[in-house]
Amino acid sequence: MSELPFLFHSHWLYNAIMTANERIDHLERLLEVVRGLTTAPDLDSFLQTIITEASEMTDSELASILEYDPDARELRFLSTIWFDRDVLRPMSVPLDGSVAGEVFRKEHALIIQDTKADQRHFKVIDIVTNHETYSLAAVPIIVRGEAIGVLEALNKRDNAHYTEEDLTILTSLAALAGQAMRNIHLERKVKAARIELAELERLKSDFIAITSHELRTPLGLILGHATFLKELAGREFESQLDTIIKNATRLKEIVENLSDVENVQSGTARVRSGRVSMKRIAEDVVLTFQDEAGSKNITLVKAWGDAPCYIQADGVKINIALSNLVRNALQFTEAGGTVRVQVGEEAGYIKVAVSDNGIGIPPRDLSRVFDRFFQVEDHLTRKHGGMGLGLAVAKSMIELHGGRIWAESEVGKGSTFTFLLPLEGMESSSVVQERA
Ligand code: ADP
Repeated sequence: MSELPFLFHSHWLYNAIMTANERIDHLERLLEVVRGLTTAPDLDSFLQTIITEASEMTDSELASILEYDPDARELRFLSTIWFDRDVLRPMSVPLDGSVAGEVFRKEHALIIQDTKADQRHFKVIDIVTNHETYSLAAVPIIVRGEAIGVLEALNKRDNAHYTEEDLTILTSLAALAGQAMRNIHLERKVKAARIELAELERLKSDFIAITSHELRTPLGLILGHATFLKELAGREFESQLDTIIKNATRLKEIVENLSDVENVQSGTARVRSGRVSMKRIAEDVVLTFQDEAGSKNITLVKAWGDAPCYIQADGVKINIALSNLVRNALQFTEAGGTVRVQVGEEAGYIKVAVSDNGIGIPPRDLSRVFDRFFQVEDHLTRKHGGMGLGLAVAKSMIELHGGRIWAESEVGKGSTFTFLLPLEGMESSSVVQERA
């Protein structure tokens, strides 16, 4: 009599321990799959791990993953056991009239203990693979609240019934599969966007190269003939011809800016390097803009010492870069303001800074002002002229000399554009000299 409760107890205990051990084993296996999320070499091998674990952990004959194809509005086999792979890859499973379809549409798990007695089972797959499915458990693969596929386990061994525990295992594996599928989708999207961007960049470069090349010749002719006519026509048509010359010159500048940036980006820029004084360049630039500053009632301040600050550089290009910075500073500063041009030496570099107390640049735009065609103001409503090329040109010119340029600004307080160029004899290895 007294042995019975003991036997009962030990049997119950044995079962409880077995179940606990099994659960620990399942958890360990799931953890291993989680690790695979970051270590698996590719999506295919990770999904193979998922279906192997799905069949082993639920004691099933096999398992498979189906992915929703939004264009065809069908489910397709994404991962299957290797010997079915070739026959199943081209196959699709309809959303209506299949267990996987129902699980996908209704986003709920399903167990079918006897598929023969169930109309929902899609028999075509069994015929194609020469298999017999007698039981199955399926769960949706859901990512961010949206079903993207289905994980199925087929034929529980020894004719046993699928349990809630099996569904829990499959749901956990489906979540991991979903994560991996989403990662790969995002990766593909990023890759496609990068390719598209590179293509757009190439088209933009081609367009700029072709138009600037094609515009240069007619512009040269217009300028030449207009200048010739001005000499012939006398005072009567002088102002009209001046307008033609002024605007053609402006167009020529734009075309030159375009091709300057393009040449630097395509690596065909020519640098005529020589020993030049940065202070001398700054003097020239300030002199060029003195009248414009005066007419706008802006004080243009020179801030440098006696040292000539020699650099090995293409003086014309550095002049263009500094001129663009000073032109902008004058353009974006109100009357009564101050624009300061500083030149000095700093740790093997010449440092040039152009500061103003003008309108400033919002922080979100600061990193983009050096992009080609970027302008802070909307081009439809903007008050200032320009094509958004001045800073791109300046950046190209400075970088061509192994230098660096950056901007600091505060809206309403003003901006400072600074560039560094290697001092003569200390230029970095990236300085380009006399490139043909
Ligand atoms: P743009 O020739 O149109 O002026 P830039 O490339 O020289 O083009 O400048 C790009 C944009 O950066 C300008 O349109 C302007 O919005 C902003 N910017 C440049 N310099 C300054 C400055 N000193 N103060 C305020 N905004 C500036």
